[in-house]
Amino acid sequence: MKLKPGDVIFRQGEVGDTAYLIEKGQVEVFHFKMPDDDSHIAVLGEGEIFGEMALIDSSVRSASTRAKTDCELLVIKKDQLLERLDASDSVVQMMMRLLMRRLVQRTQQVSGLPQPPVENHLHDKHAIDSIRLESQIFEAFENNEFEIYQQPIIDLVTHRIAGSEALLRWVSPTMGVIAPGKFIDVLEASSMIVPIGYWIFEECFRQDKKLREQDLKYDGAISINVSVRQLLSAGFVSHLKTLVNKHSVDPANFKIEVTERILMEGGVVIDVLTDCRTMGFQISLDDFGTGFSSLQYLSKMPLDYIKIDRSFVMNVLKDTKVKAVVRSILFLAQQLNLKVIAEGIETDLEAAEMRKLGSELAQGYLYSRPLEFSNYLKFVASVAQKVAA
Ligand code: C2E
Ligand code: CA
Ligand code: CA
Repeated sequence: MKLKPGDVIFRQGEVGDTAYLIEKGQVEVFHFKMPDDDSHIAVLGEGEIFGEMALIDSSVRSASTRAKTDCELLVIKKDQLLERLDASDSVVQMMMRLLMRRLVQRTQQVSGLPQPPVENHLHDKHAIDSIRLESQIFEAFENNEFEIYQQPIIDLVTHRIAGSEALLRWVSPTMGVIAPGKFIDVLEASSMIVPIGYWIFEECFRQDKKLREQDLKYDGAISINVSVRQLLSAGFVSHLKTLVNKHSVDPANFKIEVTERILMEGGVVIDVLTDCRTMGFQISLDDFGTGFSSLQYLSKMPLDYIKIDRSFVMNVLKDTKVKAVVRSILFLAQQLNLKVIAEGIETDLEAAEMRKLGSELAQGYLYSRPLEFSNYLKFVASVAQKVAA
């Protein structure tokens, strides 16, 4: 949040649920007595936090605050703390320490005891970084800085496009294109993943319509990554139904892609996925073989596809044991009537080997990196031309 000198942050008497960390500039704390006559209490500088009592009880503000100079503030919302109520979270620990220190200071002020030196600067860099990133992500979402890229999935037998995987990108005006590795963990740990997750569905629905409007002979399916938190959020299935109706799309044109980790949540996941499949969505299990699969669940899960993780694909030519594992995954898939997508194919040799072992579908840099949607449309058109020729 950026402010100019004189901008008011909050007024005495207002109810608040946010605290602020000063990243740049100075903030004045003051009491309104009469119009035009305000009594100045303190000037706060970089690294100091204010308004934090509101995080405890959403109480009314006991003073007003305004920017004294050009300022940059980090907003810390009560919800952000409540979501992390696990006391081992470094953000919660930092806020608890801060609040305890403030309470001690206030008690000493009231009792007239000598006050300890004010130690306002925060050293908990990790905690602050995580709150800052979360706020930046939220702001980026509000400013429409997220985009859905598509990475093609190729049919190894017909060489046609079988579909694509939707991959989230943060296109920041200042930092450029940011891949999810930098922010997906923070996003998935926060309840923001739910609204952003629905936005991802809607964006994929719009892109699917555009792909079908043009004469590209496109009949692929878009894979959409769904996090555990979103899948298990209240009303997921019914909200998805609403969105399908709103955009009048055919759910069969989409795959819900979940990772093996989701199996640790137990039977409730199976119920939700079964409902999605009944609606018409296909289901794909991502990162297969990376550790969490229980073969017992695998046979119970409503599945159409499994994705063989890149860690297998990249070693299939180098390591005969890996090759044996891949062969048995493909055998298992065949027995369970599942199609297999080989992920992270980078060379012709890897593609040939995976095809020889029985994988029908492939995705990887060999065919294309994830593409901005307008470029993906061009890619689909060029493949359609090649196949027709
Ligand atoms: P993932 O679902 O396993 O996605 C595949 C990742 O592998 C993508 O990274 C893709 O760009 C990368 N990749 C594809 N082909 C190759 C290749 O040939 N070589 C190499 N080295 N990498 C390849 P990306 O886009 O950075 O996404 C990383 C992860 O972030 C994804 O892993 C997924 O877990 C998560 N993610 C991405 N988009 C979303 C989303 O919309 N929602 C959710 N919940 N998670 C997402
Ligand atoms: Ca995926
Ligand atoms: Ca994967």
